Amino acid sequence: MQDIINNLPKLAKDKHNENKKFFTKLKKKAPKNLDYIMQDLHDDEFTRTDCLACANCCKTTGPLFTDKDVDRIAKHFKMKTQQFISQFLRVDEDNDYVLHTVPCTFLGADNYCSIYDVRPKACREFPHTDRKKFQQISNLTLKNVAICPAAFNIVEEMKKRIKI
Ligand code: SF4
Ligand code: SF4
Repeated sequence: MQDIINNLPKLAKDKHNENKKFFTKLKKKAPKNLDYIMQDLHDDEFTRTDCLACANCCKTTGPLFTDKDVDRIAKHFKMKTQQFISQFLRVDEDNDYVLHTVPCTFLGADNYCSIYDVRPKACREFPHTDRKKFQQISNLTLKNVAICPAAFNIVEEMKKRIKI
């Protein structure tokens, strides 16, 4: 898996123009059953991809924390919300709460998330390949294919399956 992760930025760069063209067309003419196709491709990919052998998202890009995430995780640690914020978070240039550093503070050496059951919504949804109206997050996906091997494979399969 580490070889795949190491090669991913180059592979994603090589595919960038092709992917960009594909998503531009997809935005103009998304198939009616796109949500269904994406769910299928996502489920299929994640039967093969073991996130515990990867954890590249947790190692390279921290999630943003919504107010609900902050409340839930602070409660999990039996901390006051403000105490949790001062200990773990900062406000970024988009005014979102994010972690001070990557890899994520809550990632274990075994790639397990120590707050898995209460992890941020952004972590639960990453790489967003099963979200509805997938064509609306193409800019984000163009970045995610360089981080997430599963997202990369899903986009490659999309291009084979959706002829536009
Ligand atoms: S909170 Fe958990 S799932 Fe989210 S980035 Fe950190 S280790 Fe990964
Ligand atoms: S979501 Fe993607 S980047 Fe994150 S652990 Fe799973 S395969 Fe790796």
